[in-house]
Amino acid sequence: MRKPDTLECLYIDFDCYFASVEKQLCPELRGRPVGVVPLDSPHTSLIARCYTAKRYGLQRGTSAMEAKRLCPDIALPVARHDVYVRMHHEILRVIDRFVPVAKVWSVDEMECRLCPSEQAGAVALAERIRAGLREEIGPWVTPSIGLGPNQFLAKVAAEMNKPNGLTVLSPEALPGPLLDLPLDDLPGIAKGMLARLHRNGIFTMEALWHLSPKHARAIWGSVEGERFWAQLRGYAVARPETSRRMFGHGRVLVSGWRSLDSAFEVARLLTVKASRRMRREGYLARRFTLSLKRREGHPLHWETSFFPARDDQTFLKALSRFYREAVETGHTRSDFARLSVFMHDLVSAKDHMSDLFTQPGVAETRDRREQLSDLIDAVNTRHQQSVIGFGLNRQPPGGYAGAKIAFGRVPDLSDF
Ligand SMILES: [Mg+2]
Repeated sequence: MRKPDTLECLYIDFDCYFASVEKQLCPELRGRPVGVVPLDSPHTSLIARCYTAKRYGLQRGTSAMEAKRLCPDIALPVARHDVYVRMHHEILRVIDRFVPVAKVWSVDEMECRLCPSEQAGAVALAERIRAGLREEIGPWVTPSIGLGPNQFLAKVAAEMNKPNGLTVLSPEALPGPLLDLPLDDLPGIAKGMLARLHRNGIFTMEALWHLSPKHARAIWGSVEGERFWAQLRGYAVARPETSRRMFGHGRVLVSGWRSLDSAFEVARLLTVKASRRMRREGYLARRFTLSLKRREGHPLHWETSFFPARDDQTFLKALSRFYREAVETGHTRSDFARLSVFMHDLVSAKDHMSDLFTQPGVAETRDRREQLSDLIDAVNTRHQQSVIGFGLNRQPPGGYAGAKIAFGRVPDLSDF
């Protein structure tokens, strides 16, 4: 394993990104506590909050009602994921002018790898990136930047002096600055792992630092422990890329949209979005699932499997079948609370070979459907929104219906 002796990685983590973007775009929110909510409803909870709101004790997950009680002046804008993603792309363009972005970790976190000529002037480079962002994106969307010998330590550094920080973790200074951090400030140490470390008598960073790789492996119960040990000590650790498991979307149904018909209308919308995303990333699915959670009673699930498919019609036909079954089994009067659709059991289009045993004509129909879906995608991509599709395209009320920014996945602009 290689152990870099310079600052090879620059990591950028934006501070309270959703709330900061809202403040940048809406001057009336500046100077006020802001919490971003997924839906315009008193029963929802915060998915992001600014530093001002944090001082009132508000966290991610605090309910909107509780937030208003603790902080009567709070503004609760509904998340606009399309806006956050558009700004994300502008941000990438600005950073790219100073140094290429090597990996996007999430909508507000990105990694740049520095070449030897950049490593000596890494701090000045970080300052130039910050100034460029301030000028072109705006002063309210602040980055915290970390510099370190590998991605892990650069990310830890970025977290150390938020907001608006610039922190260097030099390999020769280790473990010095790390020793004051609580264990769960490290990526990969959340509640479960923290409890496991405690059970093994590890309560401080110092104790963690002095673990042997073998002991770390035993505590983690896998090679992940050695990997963690190596990253913490500044080794350059290559990670195997994990492959895709599924594509899906979920949504809470607001009042007025809780009938069976409305739920299926939303399901159609989400199905098309998910299959479009799946096509763009080059996958086909062998299984399709719909889950409907009722306001009362057990949730309902339907699942169907088919020959690997990537066209909208296959999934929409499956939905129609689920709908008929729902009607036949007497669920027309149910009240639904949320739903999700998943395409899973994926095959990569690269590895997929046409089935030689299908009856004549079947493969051709499938090809035509796939071509039609590809054509629809091309039109929508060109217009950067859904201008064409199958059936209705009515947006449910209560806030944002399109793609959501999930951890580790930034939706493409064509997801909206
Ligand atoms: Mg962040």
